[in-house]
Amino acid sequence: MYYIIYRVSLLTLRYSKTKQGTCIRGSRNTQRQPLIEVLFYLEVRMVKKCNKCGKIKDIIEFNKQKSSKDGYARHCKECIAKRWKEYYRKNKQKINAHENERYANDPNYRKTLSIQRKERRDNNPEYRKELIDYHKAYMKERCANDPEFHKKVISRSSKYQKEKWANDPEFRKKAISRNVVYLKERYANDLQFSMGLKLRYISNTIFKTTKAQKNKKNEYYLGCSYKVARNYLLSLGYEPSLDIDHIVCLSAFNLEIEDHKRIAAHYTNLNPLDPYYNRYIKKTNLVSTWREKITTIANQINIDPLPIIDYIEAQNIEIITE
Ligand SMILES: [Zn+2]
Repeated sequence: MYYIIYRVSLLTLRYSKTKQGTCIRGSRNTQRQPLIEVLFYLEVRMVKKCNKCGKIKDIIEFNKQKSSKDGYARHCKECIAKRWKEYYRKNKQKINAHENERYANDPNYRKTLSIQRKERRDNNPEYRKELIDYHKAYMKERCANDPEFHKKVISRSSKYQKEKWANDPEFRKKAISRNVVYLKERYANDLQFSMGLKLRYISNTIFKTTKAQKNKKNEYYLGCSYKVARNYLLSLGYEPSLDIDHIVCLSAFNLEIEDHKRIAAHYTNLNPLDPYYNRYIKKTNLVSTWREKITTIANQINIDPLPIIDYIEAQNIEIITE
């Protein structure tokens, strides 16, 4: 171990002198002479040469060792860590078995270990992330292979979440805002998701805005699954900026009758529509092709179109001229 000059620093002192001696500030009849004194000072550090890698390193790179002459270990920390890693790689099973046994039988060891780990977790964000990733991967694999364990994890987690939700308003607030952010982002980026929501909304308008009773699921009235409806609308040129609306308007039907409901809600009675058109042009007018539309839908789902056409004709609804 020896010392080296680590840094040479420059320190300048400024003061002024009179001819007679150092002046007192503010005193009159004194002639000041500026004078600059320059001082160098040396910053000295302890360094040591590692016996293993031969590099000269700062003393903090060495572990303390009472038995050694200078009080520091012969090898640097880096070399020791390397040696341990190598040793561990070669004797992994033996070391792990020994560790596990000690962990199981020695409560003091468990305690110190958990304290050490906590310290390391708190002070080392990289290590913390590593641990979290490891844990995630472990849980994923175990849940995939062990359904019983998976069930347990889910029930434990949902129990915890429910309890927190009930007792912790802060948690509730956070969860809600997180969900809102998630939904907004998904709505903006996930076409299938946003279409699904729009379809659900448009299917529900029949039941929400009229006295119509909803006896069956939306997909029954839609005449197909959501997936088929989504693909159908995409084939008609649906884009995220467009709305989805009914072609033959809802106000033309008598929605308390089941057959009317099925035709009005059928997926082929839907089309993508410019939001401007949808919101500002009269929605209570009929398209000129309304008779053909109703007949094709009625044929598809095996109902008689004539009573419905008669009902609509009797109302004398204005027809949109496109
Ligand atoms: Zn070394």
